[in-house]
Amino acid sequence: MELLFEGDTGGRIYELGTIYCIGRNYVEHIKELGNEVPQDPVVFTKPFCAFRQGAYTAIEYPPGTENLEYEGELVICLRSSGRDVPTFSTADIIAGYAVGIDLTQRDKQSEAKKKGLPWTLAKGFDGSAQMSHFIPFGAVPPFEELGFSLYVNGELRQRAFTNQMIFSPEMMVSYLSKTMSLRSGDLLFTGTPAGTGKLAVGDKIFMQLHTKNPNYVFVDFHAELIPWH
Ligand code: MG
Repeated sequence: MELLFEGDTGGRIYELGTIYCIGRNYVEHIKELGNEVPQDPVVFTKPFCAFRQGAYTAIEYPPGTENLEYEGELVICLRSSGRDVPTFSTADIIAGYAVGIDLTQRDKQSEAKKKGLPWTLAKGFDGSAQMSHFIPFGAVPPFEELGFSLYVNGELRQRAFTNQMIFSPEMMVSYLSKTMSLRSGDLLFTGTPAGTGKLAVGDKIFMQLHTKNPNYVFVDFHAELIPWH
């Protein structure tokens, strides 16, 4: 499946690869969930069926949960491939940026965590990886100057900046590619800041990718919660 970009990628086409997600990358959110600050990135993946991309998407409220939560995140489309990817500069490893939601069945995830079991069903269901179109790396300011905001029904719930992350893209890519062969078109959900919360059918989510000044916006994303069908 071809990833959608707004702007010039230098003629390159990016096919959807593996969806990697980083957990616990913002200190405030770690405190919120009562977790420990990690030494290394916490990594999990989402399956192909989780992927949804567009300027406007629908989120089906999944069955079997009483607590579906949004996790607003900056999403990176990887440019480089291989094992032990050199990470001298972000230009080498990043093809583009999107804003997205790592949807989580928090009740199911907490249950799995308690039992020491995998989170796959809590975080990998259909449509659990939602994202905007990608903006090419060259079309926005350097990584360190980016941020994003997430609104639910018009109310600001999450706003974060890349300089608040524990792990940089170079660190994440270097860590992952030590043992996993990366592919151009792999996606990296870079973790969520404080302010995650519950969703209900009918809720409207709005996200923006911006600079340190939230008025300088590069991409908009809208999603609406609908019943599972
Ligand atoms: Mg997340």
